[in-house]
Amino acid sequence: MKDTIHKYFKQQQLLYGNELYFSINPEQSSESILKNDRINTQQELDTFNESICLCMECPLGKTRTNFVFGVGDPNAELLLVGEAPGEPEDLSGEPIVGGAGKMLDKILIAIGKKRGDGVYIANVIKCRPPNNRDPLPSEVDKCEPYLLEQISKIRPKLIVALGRVAGKTLLKLDVPLQEMREKTHDYNGTPLRVTYHPAALLRNSNFKKPCWKDFQWIQGFLGNA
Ligand code: SF4
Repeated sequence: MKDTIHKYFKQQQLLYGNELYFSINPEQSSESILKNDRINTQQELDTFNESICLCMECPLGKTRTNFVFGVGDPNAELLLVGEAPGEPEDLSGEPIVGGAGKMLDKILIAIGKKRGDGVYIANVIKCRPPNNRDPLPSEVDKCEPYLLEQISKIRPKLIVALGRVAGKTLLKLDVPLQEMREKTHDYNGTPLRVTYHPAALLRNSNFKKPCWKDFQWIQGFLGNA
């Protein structure tokens, strides 16, 4: 082995003199940079999660079963945000699971994405409101900074608010969903769109067509971003 290395360098010296040249594969290099970035962001998110998971800043801390931080790709280009955990999320600790979760997974596959790969899912607030009531403004005031911190770490290209409550809470607009859809809003410097919550599609299949239109727009936006 030693002889082989010595012979190689001798040949190189004969060819190129005393200067050594190394070729770097640019693809491999950018891949490893991305991989490291992903690991670092995941670590930052984990540390942040650990620092807030016992939060009692609002009364929902006392009634939750599980704190629901969020899951997905730490370097996601698409951040999906629901309003708050419901019962299955409170029990599992993961956002948008159960029937709504399956519906969301199908939509993501249809636009060439999947949960955890290019996609991160979170809620505006991290603990379940009793009986699935809408989050109170005082609860949002306490919890929204956590979402902002997550966004600053993930740096998505696009945020999509799922459902009217998530949209109006993030945009501070008390208008119907239809008025928020099909417009690109700004959420602290990141483009934001509003569409239906997948649970709404389970309740009313008439929402599927317009929701699919929204996700086709999302696919186009991310393809061009
Ligand atoms: S909802 Fe948010 S602010 Fe309230 S206790 Fe849970 S993590 Fe803390």
